[in-house]
Amino acid sequence: MSAGIYMHVPFCLTRCGYCDFNAYEGLDELKPRYVRALLAEAALTAPEWHDAEISSVFLGGGTPTTITSADLASLFGALCGLFDVASDVEVTVEANPDTVDLESLGGLREGGFTRLSMGAQSFDHRVLRSLERLHAPGSVRRAFAAARAAGYANVNLDLIYGAHGETLESWERTLAEAIALAPEHISAYALTVEPATPLGRAVARGDVPEPDPDTQADMFQLACSMLRDAGYGHYEVSNWARPGYECRHNLGYWRRQPYLGLGAGAHSSRHRRRWWNVRPPEEYLATVEGGRLPVGGEELLDEGDAYLEEVFLRLRIFEGVPSSWIEDERADPFVASGLLTDDDGTLVPTESGMLLLNELVLGLTAAVY
Ligand code: SF4
Repeated sequence: MSAGIYMHVPFCLTRCGYCDFNAYEGLDELKPRYVRALLAEAALTAPEWHDAEISSVFLGGGTPTTITSADLASLFGALCGLFDVASDVEVTVEANPDTVDLESLGGLREGGFTRLSMGAQSFDHRVLRSLERLHAPGSVRRAFAAARAAGYANVNLDLIYGAHGETLESWERTLAEAIALAPEHISAYALTVEPATPLGRAVARGDVPEPDPDTQADMFQLACSMLRDAGYGHYEVSNWARPGYECRHNLGYWRRQPYLGLGAGAHSSRHRRRWWNVRPPEEYLATVEGGRLPVGGEELLDEGDAYLEEVFLRLRIFEGVPSSWIEDERADPFVASGLLTDDDGTLVPTESGMLLLNELVLGLTAAVY
């Protein structure tokens, strides 16, 4: 059985106004305990995963690179000792451009990290300010050059579109700057407003307008065409890659492969069981330091949920679903309106269909309920 491991690092330099991840600023004094707890949790869970070959490891956050390279390398080294890790394992670390340099990236490369995923978000100062990101566009270019000099041949840039004040022209320049750096992988996400964030509260007060869905749709279409022209394959609704550089770890999620999540709030999945760790870092630490697994909840997917999930995931990675799964009268209107194509018996969304993925899934699957 092939599986992935996700490790969550909840520390950030500052908290961005739109972020609803399990991430905190000002908890630096917890870092040494947190690293020890991750090691302890990995040791507690490893026996359950003895039948799995680990094909990908992903350190995400938060900002994992707020922890020293030596600690991050020792975490990966510990996983190699506890789990059956594949010799060609993909090992990704997420980084904020202001938290890495040639030395730290070199240390991670030597420690076994093969892939760097950098939160660039935008190359427009005003958009970065609107997102409350600390870094400047120049930091991304510097960090990217350092990554290449440190030997990374697989780099992702994360971009966000639709922030207040961003125009189609500004987004076009951001895409052009990202493409000019020639990363192997680009992720582009539409900004979403989560109610329990400073941005969500500002929108609720009327201080900041909600992102305009039509503008975001235009931005998505622009990303599709510019990235296609630059030779990137569109393999998931928000992800593009040079051939062979699709993110193995994320594809594992989307192909419903088992994964183990370690760290505060991390989620795990194995067959139809889903479970997740307690979210507050202090509670996570206290539980693991007490020698217990920090599981905060679990669920078992029933047949209907599993089917719905499978249809949704197959559509979002353009693999499509066999047309025999879906009644003709459900699929035909979507094919006629250009949201789906029937590709030799497989229903695959078009890029326009990707914009309406939720509606597509509900329209195609309502029959099972
Ligand atoms: S750096 Fe990322 S995880 Fe941290 S606060 Fe900003 S968006 Fe959230």
